[in-house]
Amino acid sequence: MLTKKIDHIGIAVRDASTKLSLYKNFLGLTDIHTEELSSRGIRVYMIRVGESKIELLEPMNEQSEISKFLEAKGEGIHHIAFNVQGIDQAVELAKQNGLQPLSDSPKPGAGGTKVLFLHPKTTGGVLIELVEGNH
Ligand code: ZN
Repeated sequence: MLTKKIDHIGIAVRDASTKLSLYKNFLGLTDIHTEELSSRGIRVYMIRVGESKIELLEPMNEQSEISKFLEAKGEGIHHIAFNVQGIDQAVELAKQNGLQPLSDSPKPGAGGTKVLFLHPKTTGGVLIELVEGNH
């Protein structure tokens, strides 16, 4: 597996509309792509920052994956994503390195990417996302 760059930093928010002004008006970041991941109950705002992105994760309902996080920890950094090549080898490679993948194989992510998460208890407290492809 080849790791190319930090793809994005995921930030959990209760209501993205009240946070977008920071990124748009103050930081001047206007390349923003919105996508709804209905199966996960998450609305995503991908904000381009040069080579990387900030990903605001907003719950669409109370069953949302991100609702549980917000309840337990409040708003804040949720995960760090690395852009990689060879994600299909990542599950096996992670296990060999004592890391715990959250699924048995990569799953579809935003914009036609493939993604795999690693459990924070095996990575020093950080939820790590691997992303293959560009969105
Ligand atoms: Zn992400």
